[in-house]
Formats: sequence, structure tokens, C-alpha cells
Amino acid sequence: MIVERSKNPFILEAFTKTKRKVQLTQNDWKDYKWQLNNSIKTIAAFEKLTGITFLEREKEEIEKTISKFPLSITPYYASLIDKKNYREDPIFKQAFPNPAELEISKCDMRDPLHEDKDSPTKGITHRYPDRVLFLISNRCAMYCRHCTRKRKVGDPDSVPSREQILAGIYYIRKNRSIRDVLLSGGDPFMLPDEYLDWILTELNRIKHVEVIRIGSRIPVVLPYRITKNLVRILKKHHPLWLNTQFNHPREITPASQEALKRLADAGIPLGNQSVLLAGVNDCPQIMKKLNQKLLQNRVRPYYLFQCDLSEGLSHFRTPIGKGVEIMESLVGHTSGFAVPRYVVDAPGGGGKIPIMPNYIVSWSTNKIILRNYEGVITTYQEPDNYKPISCGRNCAKCDLQSNMEPKESAIGVEKLLVGSDGTISLIPEGNLRLKLREKWK
Ligand SMILES: *Cc1c(COP(=O)(O)O)cnc(C)c1O
Ligand code: SF4
Repeated sequence: MIVERSKNPFILEAFTKTKRKVQLTQNDWKDYKWQLNNSIKTIAAFEKLTGITFLEREKEEIEKTISKFPLSITPYYASLIDKKNYREDPIFKQAFPNPAELEISKCDMRDPLHEDKDSPTKGITHRYPDRVLFLISNRCAMYCRHCTRKRKVGDPDSVPSREQILAGIYYIRKNRSIRDVLLSGGDPFMLPDEYLDWILTELNRIKHVEVIRIGSRIPVVLPYRITKNLVRILKKHHPLWLNTQFNHPREITPASQEALKRLADAGIPLGNQSVLLAGVNDCPQIMKKLNQKLLQNRVRPYYLFQCDLSEGLSHFRTPIGKGVEIMESLVGHTSGFAVPRYVVDAPGGGGKIPIMPNYIVSWSTNKIILRNYEGVITTYQEPDNYKPISCGRNCAKCDLQSNMEPKESAIGVEKLLVGSDGTISLIPEGNLRLKLREKWK
């Protein structure tokens, strides 16, 4: 008998029926290895366990989709599907293949974020000056249909070898500017405990690595993986941060709450990175509820991602305006720390770009006109006699920059603002006007 309080015990009944001799126990259900061994990987298994059935014609299409992007759903996550209204169900949509995934639209790209191009060694993406993304696993407990790294997950050719991991660690060790390492994949928690312990130990040994963070969807799709032993290991490697990916309030269940509690009790600051998905969470009220529930579970909403331009995701994409509308309904309307930052990850590898509704109405020499969330328009009188900090902005010689190359101290628009090296404009590569100048010389 199962006591896991799911609204849909159908899946459990199905298991007890199919495995007549081996009675499924509560302990089995809560054993993450059992969950993985019994993951749903075929349409037949899905039908059998959920009681949902598809037409022959539908099955053919779904099969085609699976042969391109594999199917894998944990029985736990499948048990959250609303069986009666599954076609509109946010859990079903994130987990079950949709033939629309095979439609490659004109703007779709295999690697829109250029994670492979910005990669000095396999598995590492070094995009920002002081931090790297380190892909240490290509497996996931569930293959999310909206995954931006679909090209990699589940592909046996991209399983990182021990050598590849060592090469990544070596790269981080050799680059003193890296102070933050983001472990992702696939899902890092799909690695065995000892293997993860080894990677974390090696990274922790590197003096210039100040923080390690893990990106994992396991608390959402396989919360039972957050075992006492895993938490005991993670605790040894502080300061360790964890970002997970809840996309809908229905994903917050007693089981996922228990996993979050264990992690938070171990002193791991928890963040959430939602993806804005058409038909799943493209609604201000859903997002507000989700973010409030996350806070209740000590998870701080961190990012709300605009859906990337990866191949086969066009049916999940919303206009950017939908994200702005969601932000409008959050800022001021609910606790500030329930408000994530809405970002577009720039196609071509430009990194995350924040997007906000406009709050500045107008501006004069020293007065600014702002509007608040209620629509109240207000004025802020700026000082007439502002005197900035008296360091002369000699940033290259500043103590705070001591372990940085001067060239790294300011880039982009920040550099224009600092103005210490005389740069007054940034000019795109291949600018036609400048090319002409060259010709005239
Ligand atoms: C998102 C990301 C990071 C981390 O960015 P933060 O804004 O610091 O969370 C680092 N590297 C890559 C390649 C990323 O995509
Ligand atoms: S857990 Fe993350 S990497 Fe894995 S399939 Fe889901 S979104 Fe992709």
C-alpha cells in the first residue's frame, strides 16, 4: 500500500496490478533507484501505468518524436498528471512528447546559446569573466520536453568521461579569474554519490573557486533522490548553492517539499529558475502562486527564462510581452523576493539579458518621474550637489581589483561609463562607415 498523498493514485494501482507477485510498497515508491528502474520510456508503458490511451495515428507521430528526443518520465512525476484533462495538463506537457517537437522553425538553432562555441574544453562553457558552466552529466531523471540542451541529454555519445571531467577541473584550476563554478548537465544529481563527492572535493580544493552551484531539476522530478546521504555529502562542500527548476505550482508536493527542506536545513541556499512555457505557466496568476509557494519552501525565485530558440521548442515559446506582463503583475504586488529576474538568454552566446516593464516615465536635469505598480506617478528630486566617492575612478590600481587584469576591470557599457581609458564609443565588428574610412586612407 502506498501512502504518498498524490491526487492520482492510478499509477500506483497500475504498478500493484502489473507486479502482482511483488507487492509495491511505500518504500519502493520512495526509493529513487526504484523510480529510475521503473521510469516510463515507451508509449505502451505510459498507457499501462496512467490508463491514458492514444490513437494508432497519434502513436506513430509520438514514436517519431521519441526517436529524435528520448522519452523518460519518473513514475513519481507521471503520478502528478491530471489524467482526466491530460491534454491541457502542465505536468503532461512538460513530460510527454509532442509531435510539434519535430517542427523545426526558421529561427530554431541546434545550439542557440553557442555553449559549444564558447567552450575551451569539452563540457566547459566560459562566457562570463569570472564564472563557468561545467556540464558533468548528460543524464536526467526525466527528459523535459522544453529542454534547451535537448541536443545533448540522453545522447550516449555525450556522456562525460572521467578524463573529460578532469580536463574541465584542470581548466578551472589554471584560470584564476574563475571564482564561481556552475555544475549542470544533464542533471548532476544523476551521478553516483561518490562521483559527485569527488568532483566537489576537487573543485573545493581550488583556492580561487569561491562558490560552487549546482543546477538540478531532481527536486521537481525525482525528489526521493535527495537522500540523507546525498545531503550529507553536499554539506561538506560549502559554500554550495543550488538552483532548481519548478515551473508550475502543482509541482510543489509533499515529496518535493521534503526534499527542499532537507537541502535548506543543510544550509544550502536554494534558488529557482523557471522557464516561461506556453500552455504551462504563461499566466501571471500561476507565476505568482508558484513564486509564493517557493518562498514558503525557502526557495528564492532567481530567473524566469524566456524560452530559448533551440530546435523543436517553437510550440512552447511565448512572445516576450507575456514575460513583461508577468513581471508587471509581480513587482510591487507581492514580496520583492518572490520576484525572479526575467531574462532572455541571447542567441549567439551573449548571455542573459534582463527585461523589465518601464518604470521611468520621464527625466530632466535633476528630476526623475517614475510610476509605481499601482499606476501612481511620482517625482524624485535628485541632489544638486552630488559628490561621488573620491577615488578618482582609478580602478586599475584599486585594491578591490588586485587579482584581476586591468583589462577585465570594465567592459562594455560599463567601460563607457567609467571612461578611464578614453574609450568613448563601442563599434560593432565590420562597421561599414569605418571600413570606408580604411579605404580612404
Ligand atoms: C547562466 C550562465 C552562467 C551563470 O550566470 P548567472 O547570471 O551568474 O547566474 C554562467 N555561464 C553560462 C554559460 C551561463 O549560461
Ligand atoms: S532536467 Fe534540465 S537538462 Fe535535463 S531534460 Fe530537464 S531541462 Fe533538460
